[in-house]
Amino acid sequence: MDNRCKVLKLQIQALADGEIETFDDENLSNIFNHLSNCRECRSQYTATMRLKDTIKVKGDNPPPKEWFEQLEKKRSNKIMRRMGYFLVIIPYILLIGFGLNELFFNSGDNIIVKVSITTIIFGFLILFGITITGRIKELKTDKYKEIMK
Ligand SMILES: [Zn+2]
Repeated sequence: MDNRCKVLKLQIQALADGEIETFDDENLSNIFNHLSNCRECRSQYTATMRLKDTIKVKGDNPPPKEWFEQLEKKRSNKIMRRMGYFLVIIPYILLIGFGLNELFFNSGDNIIVKVSITTIIFGFLILFGITITGRIKELKTDKYKEIMK
């Protein structure tokens, strides 16, 4: 970086910042002359311009509408999931009760019926447990999910 670069550095910075009205024609042609001849200053000028562009894009564009709509959708999905969960759980419990009732009072000595009902009940209990633990895990991580959104 020679002395001329040092002299022009601030002016080039100001030009990149868009303060073009502070320069007269001679000044501008001096700067552009130097920019076209000096690679170092030119790269700094374009880097500043690029940085300004990035900031502008980020600052001027609010999050798109779709982003908010999606957030709303996610929320209603959650409510639907909860409803579905209850709709599945209630028949589970009823069927388990029904099965136990059948097992102890109505099956008589029929071993096949007893084994079948016992198996069904265990199956339900396993599915029930999986659903519950999955739900609890989800609840535990939900707080962090909200932040991630
Ligand atoms: Zn230079």
